[in-house]
Amino acid sequence: MTSSVVEQRLSAGELSCPDCGGVLARWGWGRSRSLRGLDGVVVVRPRRARCRSCEATHILLPVSSLVRRADVAEVIGAGLELAATGWGFRRIATRLGRPATTVRGWLRCWSRRAGRTAAVFTSLLVALADDPAVVLPAAAGTAVRDAVSAVTGFALAAAARLGMVKVPTWLLVSAACHGRLLAPGWPSA
Ligand SMILES: [Zn+2]
Repeated sequence: MTSSVVEQRLSAGELSCPDCGGVLARWGWGRSRSLRGLDGVVVVRPRRARCRSCEATHILLPVSSLVRRADVAEVIGAGLELAATGWGFRRIATRLGRPATTVRGWLRCWSRRAGRTAAVFTSLLVALADDPAVVLPAAAGTAVRDAVSAVTGFALAAAARLGMVKVPTWLLVSAACHGRLLAPGWPSA
């Protein structure tokens, strides 16, 4: 979501609490942060919201950002897709112009949760697709590849279902997991 979409949906009471499903309302702003984008630095100022039911506060990040990560979702997603084709972290880091330690961090986190991530996105894909048997990706051979196949398969199905064919894959993925793709505690076991 862009920030204006976040604002509209907050006004309409359309955003729900990740903890309890209650309605989120505006609750000030989070601090500005700089992200490393595809073509340079992007500054975002996330909205803070509070749940009307459980009163927990949440930071609503734009979907370009992932929780705890300094790079935008599309850059990290490009790295994960390269890893799924067999590239190592050093080569990916060179291609993306990022520090090798940063890319290694993404890949370690991704491989630790690959099985659960694949399960989450496969179930979302099944829920969205008209004919899941047609769109379900075949087993790719490794957990890391299967997880990338599941998230990209989900994004294709979501884009088709929502008529959002121009929305980049990794923005849809980020939106679906509330930016928690590589955050601690996600997906819950
Ligand atoms: Zn709540």
